Amino acid sequence: MLLGFRTKLKLNGRQRKLMAQHAGYSRWIYNWGLATKIKLYQEGIKIKTTELKKFYTNHVKPNYPWQSSLSSRVYQFAFRDLDTAYSRFFKGLGEFPRFKKKGINDSFTIDAGGKLIRVGGTRIKLPFIGWVNSFEGLPHTSVKKVTISKQAGDWYLSLAFEQVREKPQLKNETIGIDLGISDWAYLSNGEVFPSLKPYRQLQKKLSRLQYLNRHKVVGSSNWYKAQLKIARLHHRISNIRRDYLHKMTSYIAKTWSKIAIEDLCVSGMLANHKLSKAVADQAFYEFRRQLEYKCPLYGSELVIVDRWFPSSKTCSNCQNIKQDLKLSDRWFNCTECETHLPRDFNASINLAHYADGLSVKACEVDNADVTIMKQEVINR
Ligand SMILES: [Zn+2]
Repeated sequence: MLLGFRTKLKLNGRQRKLMAQHAGYSRWIYNWGLATKIKLYQEGIKIKTTELKKFYTNHVKPNYPWQSSLSSRVYQFAFRDLDTAYSRFFKGLGEFPRFKKKGINDSFTIDAGGKLIRVGGTRIKLPFIGWVNSFEGLPHTSVKKVTISKQAGDWYLSLAFEQVREKPQLKNETIGIDLGISDWAYLSNGEVFPSLKPYRQLQKKLSRLQYLNRHKVVGSSNWYKAQLKIARLHHRISNIRRDYLHKMTSYIAKTWSKIAIEDLCVSGMLANHKLSKAVADQAFYEFRRQLEYKCPLYGSELVIVDRWFPSSKTCSNCQNIKQDLKLSDRWFNCTECETHLPRDFNASINLAHYADGLSVKACEVDNADVTIMKQEVINR
């Protein structure tokens, strides 16, 4: 797939002057070629652009010493542009070529004489011109040519590049992921995605706003103002969350060949705080949605683990099920084998085992859990 990219350049005075000189050179060549072609045509002579260029190089260029202080690649492209304009005209795709005016679509194209130009970061080494900076990051690629153009007083870099979507080298392993509330996710290899500080701060602000405005008269102008404020904050929070989830899901889908997640965010479902529950639910669905489209993209397999699988209550080492594990228990302490792990870490290992078909004990559903879950569903 060929992608186009255009970005504003950050230039110093000397560079701006060089750009203007090269754009002027390109325009001069184009106009000289067009004028010569028209004149010859009027005298009954048709000339190919390649012949015209040869004549120019041998007989005309030496008379203009200022041109030898600029990149000779620019005039090659100016002749090519003229040729393109003519063939478009003959094919009925465009008007007869017009003379270029200074200050209108000033541009030039440059290459490295067949060598590739490396692109990436916020700097690019242009042939002849040297290093220039850009305001935004450039795609990591290499190109044969670049076009520099001026618009509203600023200079822009444009390039076209082939994007190759290479499938990443995946680890031939299964990763289990347990989504939580205090931390965003625990991975079965021990990695943790912690909660973001700005996210937590905004969440606190949101709860406070909601609390402070609880007595406002619905429909009053004060109520409306407060609602607007709350809506904006919601929006900011969900943006932060989505960005963070994208980072997580891209990393996960590009790294492991098999990925196991829960069917429902059980820990979120069981949380007693209404707000955190809603947030955990949203994050969970967004997390799952992203993985569902990214996994096929990178060639990894997503396994959704049955919601009745007791991932939290099972010991990941001996499969002993601990019925008395409380919601507030942040650690899993096995009474059978002395396994001592953070609750979500233990759960993530169980999810990975489940996806690999390693879980030996049948699932025992805790009736107390079912009661709570039923209640949660009714309350929705
Ligand atoms: Zn155990």
